[in-house]
Amino acid sequence: MERLKCPACGKETLKLTTTIQTIPYFGEILLLSAYCENCKFKHSDVFSVEQKEPTCYTLTIEDEKDLNARVIRSSSGTIEIPELGIKMEPGPASQGFITNVEGILLRMEEIVKAQKILVKEKKKLERLNELEQKLNLAMEGRLKLTIVLKDPLGNSAILSRKAKKRKLSKKRIGDSQNR
Ligand SMILES: [Zn+2]
Repeated sequence: MERLKCPACGKETLKLTTTIQTIPYFGEILLLSAYCENCKFKHSDVFSVEQKEPTCYTLTIEDEKDLNARVIRSSSGTIEIPELGIKMEPGPASQGFITNVEGILLRMEEIVKAQKILVKEKKKLERLNELEQKLNLAMEGRLKLTIVLKDPLGNSAILSRKAKKRKLSKKRIGDSQNR
């Protein structure tokens, strides 16, 4: 195990662990996790070992089976639910992880809940409550939603036979209007 300088506190107490895992229908992935013993800073990410193309995956969540579809989200991937107008975008604090569709909905719910604490306006609060309700319905398989996952580096994927996969052209990367 390596010990590196922590980006948060600057001490050499950052433990870095890397593992390689084989994911069926995707290939080998590198899992990286960092943890600082001094300040408890945490970071995780996933990368494809093989060179991949910029891709966009789309999955319609229609029933409970779709909730179990595996999702690889690298820090370079953007996850969007167009029906709800919510997005999880890459950024400095962006984490990479492997989960399933339900796990994505749960993370989205956490983001909505965190925002609810900060929001004071009644209208915004109502909208956040509505989002939370819809995410809950989707988690019970009672609301049809679409999950769009775009990754210009090709490190992310939705692993379901139902998921539609297409290549992202360079021009379209970053264009949020493009689905
Ligand atoms: Zn630290």
